[in-house]
Amino acid sequence: MMTSSEVSQRAVSVAESATLAITSKAKALRAAGEPVIGFGAGEPDFPTPAYIVDAARVALEDPSNFRYTPAAGLPALRAAVAAKTARDSGLVIDASQVMITNGGKQAVYLAFQSLIDPGDEVLLPAPYWVTYPEAIRLADGVPVEIPTTETTGFQVTVEQLEAAVTDRTKALLFVSPSNPTGAVYGRERIVEIGRWAAERGIWVVTDEIYEHLVYGDAEFFSLPVVAPEAAGRTIVVNGVAKTYAMTGWRVGWLIGPNDVVAAATRLQSHISSNVANISQRAAIAAVEGPLDAVAEMRVAFDRRRQTMVRLLREAPGVYCAEPEGAFYAFPDLRGLLDRDLHGRVAHTTMELAALLLDEIKIAVVPGEAFGAPGYARLSFALADEDIEEGLTRLIDFTT
Ligand code: PMP
Repeated sequence: MMTSSEVSQRAVSVAESATLAITSKAKALRAAGEPVIGFGAGEPDFPTPAYIVDAARVALEDPSNFRYTPAAGLPALRAAVAAKTARDSGLVIDASQVMITNGGKQAVYLAFQSLIDPGDEVLLPAPYWVTYPEAIRLADGVPVEIPTTETTGFQVTVEQLEAAVTDRTKALLFVSPSNPTGAVYGRERIVEIGRWAAERGIWVVTDEIYEHLVYGDAEFFSLPVVAPEAAGRTIVVNGVAKTYAMTGWRVGWLIGPNDVVAAATRLQSHISSNVANISQRAAIAAVEGPLDAVAEMRVAFDRRRQTMVRLLREAPGVYCAEPEGAFYAFPDLRGLLDRDLHGRVAHTTMELAALLLDEIKIAVVPGEAFGAPGYARLSFALADEDIEEGLTRLIDFTT
C-alpha cells in the first residue's frame, strides 16, 4: 500500500467530512445487519419528483447532451435560475450573474477561491457547516469563528461581528436557515448585518440552500434583497439538492457580480468543466416547475421536527432548542458527558457519538465537527417511525 508520507500538506490538513463519515459508518453497519438508525443524513428521504426524472430521461435521448457544454452552465439553466431566484427570494439578477456548479458545495468552494487571498479572514459564525472552514482554508484564508449558543438562538449579532473585524477581514459567511442549528434569522437582524457589511466593505457569502425549509412563524429572507446596499459584494449559494430532493444529481449555483462569476467560471473550466448535462436538464425542469414537492416535504419535516424535539426533551441530560428551519436539531448533550451510561462514560461528544453507535445503534454527528463541542446534530429527514424508535432508545439509555 502507498504510504501517506508524500501526500501534500494541503491534502493532509483537510479534515474528512464528519457528516459523510458518520453516515457511511452507519450505512456499513446497517448493511452488516445491525439495526442502526442514522440521524446523520443531510438529505431528504423523498424521491426526486417524477417530472424532474422524466426531464432527465428525455435529455438522454438528445445527443447534444453527450458533449461538453459551457463551463458556467447551460444558458437555459442559468436563465431559469435567474427567474427562479426572482420568483422565490425576490433577488433580481441577470442570467450572466449565475454560474452552475457541481452542487452547492462546489459553489461554496469556488466562492472562496474567487474572493480570498492568502491570509484574508472570513468571519464564520459557529456552529457552522463542516465544509465552510475547510473551503476557506483551501483558499488560504483564515476562518475566524464567532461562537453562538441557543441562548441567542444560535444567531450572531452585529456587535459580535464588529468585535471580530480586523484589517484582514474580507468576508462573512452567512447562512439562514442554518445547518447545523436550524436557526432562521429574522428580517431585522439580516438587514442590520447586511448594512454593517456594506458599510465595512465586507463581502457576504450567503448560503440559501434551505430557503424553502422553514417552519411555524419563521420566514426566509434573502440578505441582498432586504439589505440591497450589500448586494454588490454578495455571493449567493444555492442548489436543487434540498428543495427538490436531488442531492445525488449534483447541481448547485452561485450568483454574484460578473467579475466573480467570470473568475469562478475560469476556475471551474480547469477543475470540472461543465456540470453533467443530464443533471442540468433535470435541474431546468426542477427550477421551472412548481414548489409542490417541497411543500409536501415541509409538512412531513415539520411533523418530524416536532416529534424529535419532544422526544429529545424527554431524555434526561439533553437540552434541545427548537430548530426553525432546515432539517436538523442541535441539542446540547453536555448533561450526558462524564456520567455513567450503563457502565460506560464519555468525556466528549465525539466519544459519546461513538458510544451511542456502539450501545444503542444510533448515529449522530458530534458537535466537534461543527465547532460546537458538547452538542450533536440529529437530522430529522428520516421516517417518523425511525425517529421514534431511535430517540426512544436514547431515552431508555439515558434514564
Ligand atoms: N450548504 C449547506 C448549508 C448544506 O447543508 C449543504 C448540504 N449538506 C450544501 C450547502 C451543499 O449541498 P449540495 O452540494 O448537495 O448542493
